[in-house]
Amino acid sequence: MLRSGTSSKIMATRRLYYDDSFQKEFAAKVLSCEPATAATASQAKVPAWEVILAQTAFYPTSGGQPHDIGKLGDAQVLKVTDRKDEIVHLVDRRLEFGEVRGSINWPRRFDHMQQHTGQHLLSAMFQKHFNLPTVSFHLGVEVCTIDVRGQEPSEEILEGAERAANQMIFEDRCVSVRYGTAEELSRLGVRKEVDREGVLRAIEIEGVELQPCGGTHVRSTGQIGIILVRGCAKIRQDWRVEFVCGTRTEEAARRDFRLLREVAEKLKSAPEDVVSSSARAVAERDANFKKIRALLERLAGAEATLALESPGAQANSLRIISRAFEDVPAEYLGFFGTAIAMTEKTVALLGLAGAGDLLFAQHPMAGKDMNALLKQVFEKFAGKGGGARDFARGKLADSSQMENALALAREKLSGV
Ligand SMILES: [Zn+2]
Repeated sequence: MLRSGTSSKIMATRRLYYDDSFQKEFAAKVLSCEPATAATASQAKVPAWEVILAQTAFYPTSGGQPHDIGKLGDAQVLKVTDRKDEIVHLVDRRLEFGEVRGSINWPRRFDHMQQHTGQHLLSAMFQKHFNLPTVSFHLGVEVCTIDVRGQEPSEEILEGAERAANQMIFEDRCVSVRYGTAEELSRLGVRKEVDREGVLRAIEIEGVELQPCGGTHVRSTGQIGIILVRGCAKIRQDWRVEFVCGTRTEEAARRDFRLLREVAEKLKSAPEDVVSSSARAVAERDANFKKIRALLERLAGAEATLALESPGAQANSLRIISRAFEDVPAEYLGFFGTAIAMTEKTVALLGLAGAGDLLFAQHPMAGKDMNALLKQVFEKFAGKGGGARDFARGKLADSSQMENALALAREKLSGV
């Protein structure tokens, strides 16, 4: 690897965010700038370079918190990762050696700080009040989740942890960084087992907890804004609790209210009445569905009677009623075919124009085979379906062949 200095050994990048997570801009020496490896470059979807600086305010993806984005000189920082002790910035253009100015995308970073510090607080409340330890954390684009282990968190537990965390926010407790060895930190009350050597970084929320963490945090709990727990689901042996903090809570509340108002408008009811209004609308819809079905069946029966009364019947011979319907639901074919097939020696050959549905039905005394007949039709016109001797249904691949398919079925029945 090419470096500006004489040494080729890995140099730890100085992490400016460790001591000041509110630093948005910085200057740093470019130690190396290499074309990105094929794998990282293809992730970036554009030609990319990997830049290593002597120091950086850019946070690399780690501990559940996503990386920062921003600019290094004129280059866009697309991704930031930890590689041993070095922080690698994936950028969209080559940087010259020398000094470069960096600036991080602050709204994104501050959002991450709100979510991350909120997670510390919420996890601490689940642990303290309900004995539910957090086993993992994910900071997503829209929501954050923690997985807690133990009893199923009831509605009361979820609300209880949320309320306790928000109480800590209202008290605006100080959030500070402490350094110490694992031994020193454990004397100060860190419960988590840490197997890392040397001096560790820990985050203290005044009077709440002390936790080893390399992430970025707000200065006091008041800056978290507010925490809202959005849901809980079982994931393997744990419980995944969904939550949002700060600006995300505000956005979620606004989005929820807008949805509620839109639904209320559609239902022509007050927002507080949407539950009863929607229950009533669904009940009406279900009742109407049943009514329409019953009416369709009666209408099909009446139409079938008319069809059977029309001239053309000859005593002792097979009577074929063939019809392509338009603008009726597919179930209408079933009602009509069943009504026709109640009369001895009749066969119904029905289709639904536009949709390509076919339905063949016969009175058992008609003595033909509807399933075999349908198969014969599909030999000439592509389609799918099947059934039994007296009743078969299917669908033509090309619905414009409906009239031809019905004509073929008539021919086959009459033995022409
Ligand atoms: Zn943290």
